[in-house]
Amino acid sequence: MKQNRLPSWLFPVLILVGLGLLITGGISYFVALRSPADNPEVSNPEISSISPTSTTLPAPSATATDVAPTLTPTLKPMPTSTQTEEPAVSEETTIPTPTQSTDEGANLSLPPKLVFDGHLAYEQVLAQVAFGPRPTGSEAGWATGDFIIAELNKMGWQAEPQEFLFMGVQSRNIIGHKEGSSGPVIIISAHYDTRPAADQDPDPTRRGEPIEGGNDGASGVAVLLELARVLNSEKLKNDVWLAFFDAEDRGRLDGWPFSVGARYMAENLTVNPQSVVVLDMIGDADQQLYYEQNSTAELSKQIWAVAAELGYEANFIPEFKYTIIDDHLPFLERLIPAVDIIDFDYAYWHTVEDTADKVSPESLERVGRTLQVWLEEKQ
Ligand SMILES: [Zn+2]
Repeated sequence: MKQNRLPSWLFPVLILVGLGLLITGGISYFVALRSPADNPEVSNPEISSISPTSTTLPAPSATATDVAPTLTPTLKPMPTSTQTEEPAVSEETTIPTPTQSTDEGANLSLPPKLVFDGHLAYEQVLAQVAFGPRPTGSEAGWATGDFIIAELNKMGWQAEPQEFLFMGVQSRNIIGHKEGSSGPVIIISAHYDTRPAADQDPDPTRRGEPIEGGNDGASGVAVLLELARVLNSEKLKNDVWLAFFDAEDRGRLDGWPFSVGARYMAENLTVNPQSVVVLDMIGDADQQLYYEQNSTAELSKQIWAVAAELGYEANFIPEFKYTIIDDHLPFLERLIPAVDIIDFDYAYWHTVEDTADKVSPESLERVGRTLQVWLEEKQ
């Protein structure tokens, strides 16, 4: 009879093999349990996809330094090439983080396009009127100049003060310039001083009071400062200077002429600018910007055409209306093409009612975006 019993020497071997299988299986199981936590870059796709972009930011470029580090830009995508964007500010402008361009085919790794924001510009109006009336030679005027210098520096611009004495009053222009800029010089300018006396006020008893200058003074400066934040150096074909004039608005008071600061700059230019753009009283909520008669017609036409492309033709009206003495004259006298963008249909001109509540973010934005597109796309 044949026995089916296994040989006795086989038992220890089987026990060892069984133990071996148990041990290796246990180790594999243990490793399988632990590995997700030990290898997050493999097991957690969210972390692995975020960490490379957050640790390998693009090298700082000229565009990146356009962004004011302490401002939180509230941006809308740049108008596309058709430029048919609604002029009104939409709710998008309140989104507190930069948005990526939605241009078709845009590479999402590129820095977002910066677009002129009327609400941020309006904050610059409020920041200026907070100093009170800012006539040439006043403490508030000097503090406003310091504020402009600080804002320019914050946004990566150099600020060159240009001090001068006029009739015993210490005055100061400020010229913003971006290092590395090249091309023919274009000066975008506005006066930051305010009228020391409200000589057009309907109430004769108030005509000696200084004006707040929410529109006549603060609005043009606000547009310049917001341009400093958004202008894309890489797209500019010009060396853009931002000039903040002092001593514009004391004309016909105490024997002063208008445009003392602008004249000082024009007389002391060391370059020959291609053109000069003057912004004055551009922030009225009820905005009507006509061609101004003294301005270089070709320059007016170019800028108003950009405004029309952006859908602003109701506010940039391509018709002549007023002839204005303003900061463009000293440059025109030197045969430098110059344009005065001014809304002279302003009921509060040189009155104590020229306050920040008469200015609207939308009006600032129309002027700012027109200039941004003109400077970045059209030259
Ligand atoms: Zn004025």
